[in-house]
Amino acid sequence: MDLSDMFDVVVVGAGPAGSTVAAEAARAGASVFVAEKRTGDSPSRAGVIQPRVLEQLALRGMMGRFREAAAEWRPDFEVPLYMYAGQLGLRYHEMDSDFPYALILPQTTTEHLLRAWAQEQGAELRRGVTYVGHREEADGVSVDFEDQNGETITVGGRHLVGADGARSQVRTAAGIPFEGRETTLTALSVDADLDFPWPVGMKMFKNGAGWILSYPFGKNTTRFIIVAEAARHTPLSVAVTLDEVTEHLRAIAGTDFEIRSAKRMSRYGDDHKTVPLLTRGAVSLVGEATRVHYPASGIGMNYCIQDAFNLGWKLGAVATGRATEDLLISYHEERYPVLQKLMADVDTQTSLNFNFSEAGRQLQKFFEEELVPIPEVNRILRDRLSGFGTSYHREEDAHPAIGERVSRLTLDDGRSYAELAATADFVLIERQAPDSARSLPDRTAYGTVRDLPASTTARGAEALLVRPDGYIGHAWADAPADREIREAHDRSLRRAKAPTATAGAGV
Ligand SMILES: Cc1cc2nc3c(=O)[nH]c(=O)nc-3n(C[C@H](O)[C@H](O)[C@H](O)COP(=O)(O)OP(=O)(O)OC[C@H]3O[C@@H](n4cnc5c(N)ncnc54)[C@H](O)[C@@H]3O)c2cc1C
Repeated sequence: MDLSDMFDVVVVGAGPAGSTVAAEAARAGASVFVAEKRTGDSPSRAGVIQPRVLEQLALRGMMGRFREAAAEWRPDFEVPLYMYAGQLGLRYHEMDSDFPYALILPQTTTEHLLRAWAQEQGAELRRGVTYVGHREEADGVSVDFEDQNGETITVGGRHLVGADGARSQVRTAAGIPFEGRETTLTALSVDADLDFPWPVGMKMFKNGAGWILSYPFGKNTTRFIIVAEAARHTPLSVAVTLDEVTEHLRAIAGTDFEIRSAKRMSRYGDDHKTVPLLTRGAVSLVGEATRVHYPASGIGMNYCIQDAFNLGWKLGAVATGRATEDLLISYHEERYPVLQKLMADVDTQTSLNFNFSEAGRQLQKFFEEELVPIPEVNRILRDRLSGFGTSYHREEDAHPAIGERVSRLTLDDGRSYAELAATADFVLIERQAPDSARSLPDRTAYGTVRDLPASTTARGAEALLVRPDGYIGHAWADAPADREIREAHDRSLRRAKAPTATAGAGV
């Protein structure tokens, strides 16, 4: 492909967020160029994929690959009992989903799978290519990269996506501030080789000396996340040694599990910073380019991927002229409040998790033993981590189902909602087919289902128009006319304004 061509979307960074955005934009019809400065793998940071991301991957027919990759790694890759703020007891297995578990998979494998998917969708991925700057022009951006020979490559794009991680250069060049506080606490992440396979699930150790989370991270590899009271202010620049690790293990777990080697040992911090806006002009930021925080309960990458699912289809719809540019504003409108809640939640978790005083440990005990078992508390905490708590409600007088995620659904013809969604962009689901066949907007699939999910039937929805990212764009209490479906579809693409009265418009 001639790089002097104009691409619809230029993505900087092929980490989890960049690859997902590229795949989604390309799937929706955009021409996409992705530049990644690394030629090899980045160190495997995230080890867990949360249920909402699993559901979204299923909408693209990707879950078979993820489960296979995880099973190759360890057959017991599903974690049905999760943790919050370092305390066990979240009953993921009770969640209403085809994926009521956290899936253990190293980030490196996740990245391989997401990159391959982006390329299958038609995205042009170049590795060893580093972003150095861009200029905004009348019809988009002109982006400069440097290849491994030091040669400059200039690529044109209508839209530029900064998915280049916490130290985003795209963010800096776009003049988007990144504010918050620097690291106040450091932790260790250690992938240790043991002589025995670690038991499935998450295991914690805690006492006044600190906290350890451990879980299997390969056949005979165990990941230990360690926050040691005595070392919590050790600067990030201090290299981790095996002696330091075994010392903390003995102090907190009472044994060093006879670790003799580790595949990887790193020290990381809890910087807490965000941008004030997710898009400016032709530039959108996604993933850690928009925030950095302590990776509490393994949610960081997951929220980044969910951002990317929100932005990707919108970029594709805008690039192909199916939506107006206004649709991109909805990316900020929808995901920024989610980001703010996430940042607050991380603060809540770290202050509870890392208070090793006598009083702090009493509070943790009360939380874990008295509060977490309460069903409603358990659900609220699960919603925070799994991604199921996210909804995009837009107007007070709108149908309450608008903005909610669609959970599992079996259609009358036996297919799952995810199978149907994999064939199209939008999906219309209704309880009863009309007498004559529906005339639907382009790229819209159709299915009927006698029982809509409890949360929406309870609110009396008769039909749902579901967006490409699996959230309800519009819901009707009575069977809609074809014209109403088209109007709702146009509003979802911001091709038509929302009526001011009670119909309620989602995106
Ligand atoms: C120890 C640790 C454990 C974690 N565990 C979890 C977990 O269990 N679950 C979870 O959800 N999250 C976890 N996280 C967080 C997770 O790793 C991040 O949220 C995730 O990597 C962010 O994805 P991203 O695509 O936004 O950014 P990144 O993964 O940082 O990807 C950015 C990409 O951009 C590339 N790039 C950067 N600059 C340029 C440039 N100038 N030109 C071209 N390319 C460029 C980089 O090489 C990189 O590939 C953990 C983090 C740490 C530190």
